[in-house]
Amino acid sequence: MSEEKKSLRKKINTTGEMGKLMADYFYELDRASKTREQKIAWCTSVGPAEILQSLGFLVHFPENHGAMLGTTRMASDLIPATNAIGYSPDICSYLTSDIGSYLKGETPLTKAYGIEKVPIPDVLVFNTNQCRDVQDWFSWYGREFKVPVIGIQTHRGVTGVTEEIVTSVENQMQNLVKPLESISGNSFDLERLKQIIRLSRECSDLWKKVLDTAAAVPSPFTFFDGTIHMGPAVVLRGTSQAVDYYKLLLKELEDRIANRIAAVENEQFRIYWEGMPIWGRLRTHSEMFADLKACVLASTYCNSWIFTDFDADDPFRSMAKAYTELFIVRADEEKEKYIKTMLDFFKIDGIIYHDAKTCPNNSNNRYGMPQRLENLTGIPSLVIHGDLNDMRLVSDEQTKTNVEAFIEQLEESK
Ligand code: SF4
Repeated sequence: MSEEKKSLRKKINTTGEMGKLMADYFYELDRASKTREQKIAWCTSVGPAEILQSLGFLVHFPENHGAMLGTTRMASDLIPATNAIGYSPDICSYLTSDIGSYLKGETPLTKAYGIEKVPIPDVLVFNTNQCRDVQDWFSWYGREFKVPVIGIQTHRGVTGVTEEIVTSVENQMQNLVKPLESISGNSFDLERLKQIIRLSRECSDLWKKVLDTAAAVPSPFTFFDGTIHMGPAVVLRGTSQAVDYYKLLLKELEDRIANRIAAVENEQFRIYWEGMPIWGRLRTHSEMFADLKACVLASTYCNSWIFTDFDADDPFRSMAKAYTELFIVRADEEKEKYIKTMLDFFKIDGIIYHDAKTCPNNSNNRYGMPQRLENLTGIPSLVIHGDLNDMRLVSDEQTKTNVEAFIEQLEESK
């Protein structure tokens, strides 16, 4: 890539700070895994992490590890090991690459931090609000490590999040406390949970403000930046470090807005990304869109870690509400309303739907949504076929040709 092309995308200065934060998080987990001085829980990315933290667990998020397997492009070589033990190549490639990584004893943590392997769990806790795959994924490890697997079953595809649904999830969350007390050896402390929810809410509010800066014209931030900078919102929500980090990042982005500094030089087209990132192509895609003067600036994906319902005065119910109101849990009707709001707010010219072969749960193009939204808003869209982690399912040539034709179409309609 030439220097000229590189200069089209503006680098975020606080990235170094985030790197340190994430490194400390992994080192702490690794220490605890080796010394066994603090209990470790594995949790799904939109699982009840706050309850686990309140009981003194350090929390590892396998999806975060899955994304690292994707960005380092290790995933495609590891997936076949999991296929060989009976898990289909068509199911979640986070699951298949993460279990493959364990089976083959290879992790991106080694190159990044000198850490030999992911931390050993004392318990695995899931919420099926996002998909069923997480339960199967955690159950495999539960059998492997001979540790308990507990979780929450969430109603999915719902139009309205009714009081009955929230009550069901709230009860399931409360029922986690007893077994977790006995695994952790600590007594549940409601005040501690409230404090963590307060910090999680603060983190979520700041993360939302960060993402919302992309409504400025030109946008100071891209979707590709978001996929990297969401790390603390996923793994460190509920801590003051995450709050401090997003204050720093927000300040940098507000300064950019004040000085009209664009994330993509000479921004001409504003694009919305719907679906999973293609982790192994983040840089390629970021450069491809920047070359076309197109800023992919907002997404449903990065917004998934915004929990505006969190309320420290009503921790269990507000958690139940926040983790069930999520986009991925909802029926298409609600999803379309949400996307329409996002298109207006971010002044979007076009939508890219990523049809991720191994994640139907986060591929929203399959049941006519692009056509319905285009009829409603007049905003054109393009579907690109690929995958989050399995790069054998990605055709770079086809993606490039289709994206270039799409941007040309946007140009003509301007
Ligand atoms: S939502 Fe998709 S990518 Fe995430 S764990 Fe489930 S199947 Fe995998």
